This record gives sequence, C-alpha cells and structure tokens, in this order.
Amino acid sequence: MDTEKGLLIVLSGPSGVGKGTVRKAIFDDPTTNFEYSISMTTRKMRDGEVDGVDYFFKSKEEFEALIEQDAFIEYAEYVGNYYGTPVDYVRNTMESGKDVFLEIEVEGAKQVRKKFPEALFIFLAPPTMEHLEARLIGRGTESDEVIKHRISEARKEVEMMNLYDYVVINDEVIHAKNKVQTIVEAEHCKRERIESRFRKMILEAKK
Ligand code: ADP
Ligand code: 5GP
Repeated sequence: MDTEKGLLIVLSGPSGVGKGTVRKAIFDDPTTNFEYSISMTTRKMRDGEVDGVDYFFKSKEEFEALIEQDAFIEYAEYVGNYYGTPVDYVRNTMESGKDVFLEIEVEGAKQVRKKFPEALFIFLAPPTMEHLEARLIGRGTESDEVIKHRISEARKEVEMMNLYDYVVINDEVIHAKNKVQTIVEAEHCKRERIESRFRKMILEAKK
C-alpha cells in the first residue's frame, strides 16, 4: 500500500497568546506523534534558547540568500526580524507519512493557506484582550518599545481568526494542548481521508 501523506498542521495566533508555550507542552507529551518543524530566524537568541532546537539562528544575509533559493514554504518579517519555515524538512516528513506541525505568526499562516489549502489551521486565541497584553508584558523578553509594537500587531492579528478551521482558547495550557491533540486526531478520522484507503482495499479484494 502507498504511504499516506502526513498532515500539515498550522498553529498560529497573535503574538503573546501562548503559541510557543502550548507547542512546548504538546512536544513534551510523549504521546504526541507529529513532528515539529524548527523555523529559521534572524532574531537574537534569548537566554536558554539553543540553536537547532528552538530555531536555526541565521544572519540577515544568510536568510536572504535562502529566500532567493526558494528554501521556504513561507517566511515573514515580524517586528524587525525574519522568520521562515524550511521547505525540505516539511515536504520530506509529510511524504514519509508523518504529520508536521508549524507554530508560526499569522502572515506566514496566510501564505501556507494559499500553498496548502488542505492543511489544518488552528488559531490560538486569548480568553480576552487583557490576557493577551498581560502575557506579552509578563513574558519579559522584550523592551517596552518592542512590547508596544507587538501589542498593536496582536490586535490586528486577532482579526484574522476567520482564515482558520478551528479556534482554541488558551485559558489553561493543558486544556489548549489537549484540544490541539484532539483536533488532529479528529482530522485523521475525516471521511475523505479514510474513504480512499477503503476504496483501494475493496479494489484489491476484488482482484
Ligand atoms: P507566543 O509564542 O504566542 O508569542 P508565548 O508562548 O511566548 O507566546 O507566551 C507569552 C507569555 O504568556 C509567556 O510568559 C507564557 O508563559 C504566558 N502564557 C502562555 N500560555 C498561558 C496560559 N494559558 N495562561 C497564562 N499564561 C500563559
Ligand atoms: P518569537 O520571536 O517570540 O520566538 O516569535 C515571534 C513570532 O514568530 C511568533 O508569533 C512565532 O510563532 C512566529 N514564528 C516562529 N517561527 C516562524 C516561522 O517559521 N514563520 C513565521 N511566519 N512565523 C514564525
């Protein structure tokens, strides 16, 4: 039997909503059976981050050369830095039958939607706008100026919810993590995905 292609799962949402936190909870769970696509970025490494684990950290020149080589499924310039998803890893992993998980900001998700309309798009939303601001400030990783910029971006980003298949409210990390895993499981049970497999089996049985 041909290997069935893996799903492309996109988790996106406004800055500070908790995408990175929920993603970490998903991948800390040993029952998770999808693969995380590590992004490339030109932003500075934060304390505790590891090159090749959190991101592949690149210079602006290196990143721009990769753009020229069409090395990204999508990329975006976000608050002064580039972020992008390497195309080879995603394609190879999906071809091998495994699901690939992207955690990206909303402009990038829009580009993926155009290229892979069949992908699964999950929007992570804050319980309220006040929660969102509090989380951005509370994370304490950026200067006041960058935080202000991210808050103004985040307001616009919340309005992009309508491009997604599912919305998960990030009230508690554990709930959000469980919901994302459940949505992926349900996607695998979609009739369209399973029907073609059964058609093939029936054809084989008739031979
Ligand atoms: P993003 O990746 O979307 O920019 P982060 O994962 O960095 O967001 O989260 C922003 C801040 O909010 C962090 O300080 C994180 O610990 C906190 N946070 C994330 N999810 C929750 C939650 N469900 N409840 C409370 N705080 C949260
Ligand atoms: P941070 O600097 O906080 O790690 O990430 C900033 C934003 O970039 C987050 O919203 C994160 O989801 C997003 N991001 C991370 N990797 C990618 C990527 O490959 N492409 C795009 N478009 N956004 C990304």
